[in-house]
Amino acid sequence: MRIVVLAGGIGGARFLRGLQRASPDADITVIGNTGDDIHLFGLKVCPDLDTVMYTLGGGINEEQGWGRTDETFHLKEELAAYGVGPEWFGLGDRDFATHIVRTQMLSAGYPLSAVTEALCDRWKPGVRLIPMSDDRVETHVAVTLPDSGERKVIHFQEYWVRLRASVPAEAVVPVGAEQAKPAPGVLEAIAEADVILFPPSNPVVSIGTILAVPGIREAIADAGVPVVGLSPIVGDAPVRGMADKVLAAVGVESTAAAVAEHYGSGLLDGWLVDTVDASTVERVEAAGIRCRAVPLMMSDLDAAARMAHEALTLAEEVRGA
Ligand code: GDP
Ligand code: CA
Repeated sequence: MRIVVLAGGIGGARFLRGLQRASPDADITVIGNTGDDIHLFGLKVCPDLDTVMYTLGGGINEEQGWGRTDETFHLKEELAAYGVGPEWFGLGDRDFATHIVRTQMLSAGYPLSAVTEALCDRWKPGVRLIPMSDDRVETHVAVTLPDSGERKVIHFQEYWVRLRASVPAEAVVPVGAEQAKPAPGVLEAIAEADVILFPPSNPVVSIGTILAVPGIREAIADAGVPVVGLSPIVGDAPVRGMADKVLAAVGVESTAAAVAEHYGSGLLDGWLVDTVDASTVERVEAAGIRCRAVPLMMSDLDAAARMAHEALTLAEEVRGA
C-alpha cells in the first residue's frame, strides 16, 4: 500500500512512527512543511523536516519532541558570548551539523529535496521524506506589539518561539507560496497514492502551508483515493502548542469539527476526532465527511499505532462506500 502523509513537526512525526508500526509494509511518502524554515547564523534551518527525520531515525529528543538527543549547547553559548543571537532559538551542537551540511549542499546548487534525501541517507527514516517545495516559502505572522502598539509582520518562528504566541495572530501568510512549485516527486506520489493522510499536525501553519503550494491541494482533491485526517484539537484545545492562535487568525474556532469543516468535504473524506469530542461526530458528518471518535492522544508508540490503524480503517470504509 502506498500512503502519502502531509506532515508538520511533532504531531506529524509522532503519528508517522505509529503509522510505520501499524503498517510495516506500507510504502510511505511524507510531504514535509517548509514554511517554518528560517535562516540563522547564515545557516538554513528546516525545523519540521528535521523533526520528522530525527524522530523516525532515532535521533530525536523524546521529551522535547524536537532537537537532538544527548545534545549540548556550546556553540550557541560561544555565539552569545560574542553578542550574536538570536538566543531564543534553541540550536544544539549536534543539530548545527545538520544545518551546516544542508547549507553547504544548497550553496553548491543542490535543491532542498536532494539535500533532504542526502541527510536521510544517514538517518534512514524508513519513509521517503520530500519537502513540499524546493522554492523558498516562509510563513509570516502579522501582530500588534503590546508595548509599542506597532503593527509588524514577523517570521513565524519569532511569533511561535520568541513570543510564544502571546499576542493575537492577525494574519498568517505563507510568503512565497503562490510562486512556489511542488518539489519533484510530490505530485507523482499523490497521484500514485492508495491513501492520503493528514496527521494531527497544525491545520494552518503545517498542513495549511503545504496545501498553499499551487497544485498540491488540487492533486489531493483529484487523486480519487480516500483522504483521512486526525484532529490535532482535542476537547476544544490543541494537544500541544498554540494552534488555537493561528486558527483564530484564519477565522476557525478551535474545535475538532471546525477544523474538519475548514478542510472541507472537497478535500477530506474521513476525519477522526477524540472520544471526548464524540458529540461532534454528527456535525462533521453533516458536512459530508465521514467521522469516527477514537482515542487520539499519542501517549506512546502503541497509542499512535492504534490511531494510524483507525485512520487506515476509516480510509477503507470510505473506499467501500
Ligand atoms: P509542529 O510543527 O512541531 O508544531 O508539529 P505539527 O504541526 O506536526 O503538530 C502540531 C499539532 O500536533 C498541535 O496542534 C497539537 O495539538 C497536535 N498534537 C500533538 N500531540 C498530539 C497528540 O498526542 N494527539 C493529537 N490528537 N494531536 C497532537
Ligand atoms: Ca512546525
